[in-house]
Amino acid sequence: AQSSEPSASVGIDTNTNSKEKVVVLVIGGGGREHALCYALQRSPSCESVLCAPGNAGIASSGNATCISELDVYDGAAVESFCRERGVGLVVVGPEAPLVAGLSNYLVKAGIPTFGPSAEAAALEGSKNFMKHLCDKYDIPTAKYKTFTDPSAAKQYIQEEGAPIVVKADGLAAGKGVTVAMTLEEAYEAVDSMLVKGDFGSAGCRVIVEEFLEGEEASFFALVDGENAIPLESAQDHKRVGDGDTGPNTGGMGAYSPAPILTKELQSIVMDSIIMPTVKGMSAEGCKFVGVLYAGLMIEKKSGMPKLIEYNVRFGDPECQVLMVRLESDLVQVLLAACKGELSGVSLDWSPGSAMVVVMASKGYPGPYEKGTIIENLEEAELVAPGIKIFHAGTAFDSEGRFIATGGRVLGVTAKGNDLEEARNQAYQAVENVKWPGGFYRRDIGWRALPQKSHATKV
Ligand code: AMP
Repeated sequence: AQSSEPSASVGIDTNTNSKEKVVVLVIGGGGREHALCYALQRSPSCESVLCAPGNAGIASSGNATCISELDVYDGAAVESFCRERGVGLVVVGPEAPLVAGLSNYLVKAGIPTFGPSAEAAALEGSKNFMKHLCDKYDIPTAKYKTFTDPSAAKQYIQEEGAPIVVKADGLAAGKGVTVAMTLEEAYEAVDSMLVKGDFGSAGCRVIVEEFLEGEEASFFALVDGENAIPLESAQDHKRVGDGDTGPNTGGMGAYSPAPILTKELQSIVMDSIIMPTVKGMSAEGCKFVGVLYAGLMIEKKSGMPKLIEYNVRFGDPECQVLMVRLESDLVQVLLAACKGELSGVSLDWSPGSAMVVVMASKGYPGPYEKGTIIENLEEAELVAPGIKIFHAGTAFDSEGRFIATGGRVLGVTAKGNDLEEARNQAYQAVENVKWPGGFYRRDIGWRALPQKSHATKV
């Protein structure tokens, strides 16, 4: 009895007067976790938010108390921490602790945990697993074959012709995919994975798949093992350069809603991709609880969505724009997911739009300098209404100033009555951040904005 249409009302009891408030533990320390802490803290039924390990920005924003000393790969340590602090909900942000089985451990210990088991996390951890599931349950995806033998892979590539896509089976930090425009590029990718072992065990098996042409879109659903509810639409920009050029990154900006995902398409994605996956996983004895984040290609030829990949957690930076727009009590929604009670639940979203512009260290996604000083963040947050700066990779230096510690460092997020307003406010804030060691794209949202605003110099 899942609803395939996003609707406007909350079907769960948000009257928290009679309920005990919940202490929430968020696992992770990036921009996504900062946004989750922010939304959880605003929930009427939230007592307090703890974040392990968190980061300097999360701590200084007051959105959560950061716990840097907890080993999130040690289930027993996390369990005893939860008991000591009276944690009533654990939300796992990144995939690595999920793949390591943190959720299995905590669920067994009776602690409500939002995030899939290690077995269910294979939807992201193994592309081969995901493709097999698609075959078995008729989920639309690119045609493919899996190989461990380089000559056989090359032979198949030669038969199919370029462009063609070569993927490492396992997790490869977002670098395991080659979209090869020539046969040579595809052969090189096969050699890099199967002969040279550049991706370690993640590249012991490769998937060679059909090149899909169209526009990419992200789709998010909350899943309770049997039911799924869609989140609002959001779209990111993966390439580092303006005009969607240059190498892929973890995401340089995002906006919500994403006009490409019409209500009709959302309902097709729920019916043909998300629900068959949820039911398929359940039938395989591998119930999925958590966020299903589908990377889709809306095919140019047919206008229909095909699944490119699954992630088993919130996307970053899409999470930032979704969390500033969410108006429902996130604690109650995630607890409902943990209890298998999402059926009939729907979510409230603020009208209008949100945009996040990611500020990254110069050089990213290549080598970059760490420790560059960032100033004026508080002032930047106040230059326009509706601005929130999420921290992905910051720490304090000895003088208490923010320094950059990662590639993607800040997610400057703004809400507006429409996308143009959100865009203008986000860039106004970005301009006020004093960070000579950083850079950002100037055209986030260009596909969804009127032509005149494309690549406006801000
Ligand atoms: P993935 O890690 O599978 O999401 O792939 C990373 C990126 O490679 C995607 O976001 C797409 O831009 C591109 N890609 C992956 N698979 C295909 C495909 N079959 N056809 C075209 N582009 C693809």
